[in-house]
Amino acid sequence: MSRRTLKLTDALVDYVHAQGVRESAAARALRAETAKLPWAGMQISPEQGALMQMLIRLTGARRTIEVGTFTGYSALVVAEALPADGKLIACDVSDEWTAIGRKFWHEAGVADKIDLRLAPAVETLDALLATGAAGTFDFAFIDADKHNYDTYYERALELVAAGGLIGIDNVLWGGAVVDPARTDDDTAAIRALNAKVKNDTRVDIVLLPIGDGLTLARKR
Ligand code: CA
Repeated sequence: MSRRTLKLTDALVDYVHAQGVRESAAARALRAETAKLPWAGMQISPEQGALMQMLIRLTGARRTIEVGTFTGYSALVVAEALPADGKLIACDVSDEWTAIGRKFWHEAGVADKIDLRLAPAVETLDALLATGAAGTFDFAFIDADKHNYDTYYERALELVAAGGLIGIDNVLWGGAVVDPARTDDDTAAIRALNAKVKNDTRVDIVLLPIGDGLTLARKR
């Protein structure tokens, strides 16, 4: 058993949330609001949010980008951890979902750090690259449509500076990555990217079994 991550019971998860995470009132309220939606499972967990805040602070990140904002929880917690002059470009296609987040971004006092771009993320990333933004970002978080994951990864790798960090979410895909019966496109895309990243000499990597699986890739 020693090679395994502890299996978390509901009581342990509650304990982690109570003792291991300093969540702001606005972040807690946004998480509760999102929990009412049928797609609530798309929201990152509070301990993952806390980890991302720690990474932002440890790396001193100022220029950040996320692909897939949903109702804005990850954007909120990242923006909270950024310095006063820090920025997050948040990419999503849903006005309906991001509108939920915008309300809480204002409540948290971080709305001015978040630049929401409502467009297909590939267009936003390509527009940034076309205006000379390659190598200017410190942190990128990929958490959107899975069949485009490889494209998002490649664009993110261009956009972050050497030493910059890329987070890739849902890399365990509910366990589907090790289920041979799962042959759908999303699962195949995640498996393919995981295999590619494992051997990608452009980055240092670790796959963390937190939430639905989070790979951290540091650009060399
Ligand atoms: Ca996710």
